[in-house]
Amino acid sequence: MSNTKYVFVTGGVTSSLGKGIIAASLAKLLQQRGFSVTIQKLDPYINIDPGTLNPYEHGECYVTDDGAETDLDLGHYERYLNIPTSQANNVTTGRIYQSVINKERKGEFLGKTVQVIPHITDEIKRRIQLLGETGDYDIVITEIGGTVGDIESLPYVESVRQMLWEKGEENAIVIHLTLVPYLAAAGELKTKPTQHSVKMLMQSGVSPDILVCRTEHEISDDIKRKLALFCNVKKEDVIQSIDAETIYDVPNLMLEEGLDEVVLKKLHLSSPIKPALEEWNNFLRKHKNPTSEVEIALIGKYVELKDSYKSITEAFIHAGSSNETKVNVRWVHSESLTPKNYEKKLKGIDGILVAPGFGDRGIDGKIKAVQFARENNIPFFGICLGMQMAVIEFSKNVLGLKDAFSTEMKKDAANPVINLMESQKNVTDKGGTMRLGAWNCKLAKDSKIYNAYQKELISERHRHRYEFNNEYKAQIEEKGMIATGINPKTGLVEVVEIPSHTWFVGVQYHPEYKSTVLNPHPLFVDFIKAALKYSKQ
Ligand code: GLN
Repeated sequence: MSNTKYVFVTGGVTSSLGKGIIAASLAKLLQQRGFSVTIQKLDPYINIDPGTLNPYEHGECYVTDDGAETDLDLGHYERYLNIPTSQANNVTTGRIYQSVINKERKGEFLGKTVQVIPHITDEIKRRIQLLGETGDYDIVITEIGGTVGDIESLPYVESVRQMLWEKGEENAIVIHLTLVPYLAAAGELKTKPTQHSVKMLMQSGVSPDILVCRTEHEISDDIKRKLALFCNVKKEDVIQSIDAETIYDVPNLMLEEGLDEVVLKKLHLSSPIKPALEEWNNFLRKHKNPTSEVEIALIGKYVELKDSYKSITEAFIHAGSSNETKVNVRWVHSESLTPKNYEKKLKGIDGILVAPGFGDRGIDGKIKAVQFARENNIPFFGICLGMQMAVIEFSKNVLGLKDAFSTEMKKDAANPVINLMESQKNVTDKGGTMRLGAWNCKLAKDSKIYNAYQKELISERHRHRYEFNNEYKAQIEEKGMIATGINPKTGLVEVVEIPSHTWFVGVQYHPEYKSTVLNPHPLFVDFIKAALKYSKQ
């Protein structure tokens, strides 16, 4: 049996309180005190994973090394903790039911009636403990998605209740995150929503050990006392979480409030050292005191919901700090870019990033943006679909293949410079069937990409079905776009660049998923560096 301790994070009053950031910040503090910690997200929706969700629904789909398509909170966990997550770190109701139903079909329940309690809750508990049982972690933090009181959250809250009972109070605790709203008309912070949400949790048999209260204003001692009294916790267990300038301030704020200390005390753990946040604070200092500024155009079709590009914008922050540069993002809707207005819309920009995506909406705008960057020697970074658009633009305008396209957008394209992988041709299911997860790539020395990574063999995460068509490689290279990164096993092109251009790199993989606070992604760092240089010209 492992000695792993469990911390559950539930949320009340409203969604979007930032449970993921609180969980990640607590994990960071515990990690920097010397504990090995991981975080898991349980999502109460019925999709097997967010891979089939439109980004407008839930923002970006985050991909792990093992090829799991997961909730974007896992991106925060990796960015804060600097350790990889995996499929085990994200579980949905769909996945839980799928395993239970598969077992039922195999007859594994031996004729029993299969029910939410105990079968679904047992499966939830099994999934919660998978990470703990590896023996790799002292503490597993499990974030329960949704809000307490939702019908779909009930089996999760019941599973938490059972685990608290089974593990004992020094081995499993609950942090409940709530909102303490400020009523301007009354000039007061209000505790009632928190009281109600704790009551709701208690109706399910779970009493929170710690309250973390999101607030716009300082919570006075009096209010803390009131919250403690009515929510059945000690006053020291009421932790204020005040709005922060950046999400990266939250570990420090939680340290000031002593969240890590109350957690350790409740779990009967002690740590003689204070969390070592020097490197973290070094990042923050540079992030907050930039010496230069650049403006990067992010061309995408989901720009109305910024969360759709979460890992990219966070990677800009990491790379910006590393360059002591403020990265301003100019959000450009690819559908709004036309041959008439693109020069105006992209005027004065220091770098252009064409984002990942699916389908043909906004494609012409993306191609126009690539052309603008290429012809004007503006630093260009294409990611996944963005790289494919760079190849298409080059084939059309430099090779003169007017009907060059991707078979994703045009099935019968006469020049399918991007086409479906052989292994994808008979795939009919949409969920979990793309080329996913970590793949190796060998970089050509003497290239921009090698210069950025400073090594020959890299591993990066993928999420796509279409590929650079190797039948066109010779012609494309002859005209000056070179494949500088190749998958050593399959020969697939992973990176293209134009050596005669100041900085023009397209990657078939998603570097943004691997950028963290302590390890800003080298490609983003190099791109921002190029943009900075360009801005000074
Ligand atoms: N739609 C493209 C493909 O499937 C690109 C995917 C992406 O940008 N993630 O290959």
